[in-house]
Amino acid sequence: MRALHVACAVVAACLAVQGCGGTAFMLPPVTDQEALVAAREIETADPTLPKFSRSDAYYRETIRRLGRQLTAGVAAICARADTVECRFIFHYVDDDEVNAFADEGGDIYLHRGLLEYLDTEEEIAAVMAHEMSHQIADHVDETRNSVLIGALLGGLLMGGIAAAGGAPQEATEDWADMGMQHGARAGQLTFSKEQEREADLLAAYVLARADVDLERAGRTFEVLAKLNGVATSNWNDTHPAGAERVVAWRKAVAEVEASPDKLPAMAED
Ligand SMILES: [Zn+2]
Repeated sequence: MRALHVACAVVAACLAVQGCGGTAFMLPPVTDQEALVAAREIETADPTLPKFSRSDAYYRETIRRLGRQLTAGVAAICARADTVECRFIFHYVDDDEVNAFADEGGDIYLHRGLLEYLDTEEEIAAVMAHEMSHQIADHVDETRNSVLIGALLGGLLMGGIAAAGGAPQEATEDWADMGMQHGARAGQLTFSKEQEREADLLAAYVLARADVDLERAGRTFEVLAKLNGVATSNWNDTHPAGAERVVAWRKAVAEVEASPDKLPAMAED
């Protein structure tokens, strides 16, 4: 189905252009050399990836308590980021899938499959703060707009290609529908690597303002780096986990600790 591939490629290209806005906050730079050193360190330090299964009641109660703690100090970060709706609703999902994600309207979903790899509540807080940060930096709306644009472009392109080929009206509509679906999927390529890095940076500030120990929270990023090579997980499909991320996290922690007002710096235009 050549036409479909062409339409997908065009939609993907449009989305790539649309997504080139950059980040609002200044991200810590990470060199290849730094990432390489960290990668070796993570591999040699502790290659195991243990699970720490807890009861559903524990996860629900911990998420509820951490949710209150993390949101209490977040308003100043939302103000700096111009967040439209600085509200967060956390949902525990009793499901094996290794996943966590932010959705429209402040909804944040945490799957048991991911939580089981985390040992302490500081590590759970790190995942929660990361997802909150996608909301704070408006990544959810930016991505939703990409989905809509993708669907529209896909529909227009596929309808146009079918019509140009002299297809009957009914077939043209089918092709337009198919184009809409494929376009929407291309738009759901989720967050960009830059957006992920921005969410990690903001997470360090969210955690610091909630008095969560950043050192302990940081183990989450090592777990995610290891998960990257092991489990097939939706989290990994959408999150660039790895040594680079661990290095960026350490730099973010140093930045937060040096910051007098515990607020992230805006990127220069
Ligand atoms: Zn993310």
